[in-house]
Amino acid sequence: IKRNPNEPEFHQAVKEVLDSLIPILEKEPKYMETGVLDRIVEPERFITFRVPWVDDQGNVQVNRGFRVQFNSAIGPYKGGLRFHPSVNASIIKFLGFEQIFKNSLTNQPIGGGKGGSDFDPKGKSDLEIMRFAQSFMSELSKHIGPDTDVPAGDIGVGAREIGYLFGQYKRMRGGYESGVLTGKGLNYGGSLGRTEATGYGTVYFVNEMLRDNDQSFAGSTVVVSGSGNVSIYAIEKATQLGAKVVACSDSSGYIHDPNGIDLATVKQLKEIDRKRISEYVTVHPHAEFIPGSTGIWNVPCDIALPCATQNEIDESAARTLIANGVKAVGEGANMPSTLEAIELFQENRVLFGPAKAVNAGGVAVSALEMAQNSARLSWTAEEVDAKLQVIMKDIYLNSIQAANTYGVPGNLVVGANIAGFKKVADAMIAQGVI
Ligand code: NDP
Repeated sequence: IKRNPNEPEFHQAVKEVLDSLIPILEKEPKYMETGVLDRIVEPERFITFRVPWVDDQGNVQVNRGFRVQFNSAIGPYKGGLRFHPSVNASIIKFLGFEQIFKNSLTNQPIGGGKGGSDFDPKGKSDLEIMRFAQSFMSELSKHIGPDTDVPAGDIGVGAREIGYLFGQYKRMRGGYESGVLTGKGLNYGGSLGRTEATGYGTVYFVNEMLRDNDQSFAGSTVVVSGSGNVSIYAIEKATQLGAKVVACSDSSGYIHDPNGIDLATVKQLKEIDRKRISEYVTVHPHAEFIPGSTGIWNVPCDIALPCATQNEIDESAARTLIANGVKAVGEGANMPSTLEAIELFQENRVLFGPAKAVNAGGVAVSALEMAQNSARLSWTAEEVDAKLQVIMKDIYLNSIQAANTYGVPGNLVVGANIAGFKKVADAMIAQGVI
């Protein structure tokens, strides 16, 4: 805390991981003796830079760009870029730290990184987005590459932004290195199934967790927060598996549709028109829009899938969910539950799937995109989806197994952290004190 002042999200992420590593640290002293813990919490490199651009009125705007290259023990740095006004060093470091263990859990050869900017894409024209992305990449391009560091999307960075970023990288570097970014368009090196991967993967993971406990999505009532990339495809897959998703949100409020959210309307509003979720009720007047995004957890459900942002379920939201009989929580977003909320879920025997395991499907398919780019091949959507299902099942099984081995059966928080940590820590030890 002294070394990283004013970084509460980073402290929270580190505390969650370190607390849950206690069983393995007690059993295997080599991790303390080799200084792995001290090294793993310090990024290998943290880059910040100026991003100047000119808005449509001709005014100069200045944002701040970030890239944290946290850990390369098992592969090139890999992790998304977030464009949101709340982005700062703490947010980028918490996300980069989480990414180390998540990427390890996928069993793909990828290290941990993350980046972004405090730029707010909301209300900006296409040309403003392009000018910003070009300025951002002019600097970032000095630090990334297909075998060094491979960014992707995150909040505020989707296919449009990745397209502009890729175009500028190509122009700066003068070669066609398709593997430098993932989440690309399908006609220039993107992978089928990447758009859906995080949302589908979230539901595949939760489905494994439910099945292991004699439950299922079929006939369940589900609440999914957010209405962005992860939320949309979590709603789609949960619905395909027979659940009824009755609520979704954006940062201004939530929709409650007791008939089940009409996903075609959400996709039109969010993916095509770039409008607010409140517009849903103009198409479906029987549904209700309630201002205030965190109120979504008042809607009773069997399964809660927080897919918007960090710390969206606090202690009070967790108490409400539990009082309303929630049976399972799967974190599609990164760190959406506070430490107090997680404790409450565990004390009340709510099945709890932590973010780094549950939402790892996105980065796993990004690694598959890198593999296809290297081999100059394109797999079918069915091939990618089949691989994603296997990966999510393996993450579940490996996390459960680690929890059993280290004396906390069923605790997926501890299991995922230990399984993710062990592989990275062993690689760090093998590579010496670097
Ligand atoms: P999008 O930008 O596509 O969507 C984000 C959604 O969350 C929007 O509905 C947005 O509402 C809402 N939201 C964002 N910030 C806030 C906030 N501060 N308060 C309330 N609502 C908010 O992002 P993604 O779907 O890609 O990402 C969602 C989460 O999933 C993030 O935590 C991200 O890190 C995580 N994730 C994403 C992956 C991916 O592949 N995309 C992979 C793994 C994790 P509004 O439009 O009003 O801002």
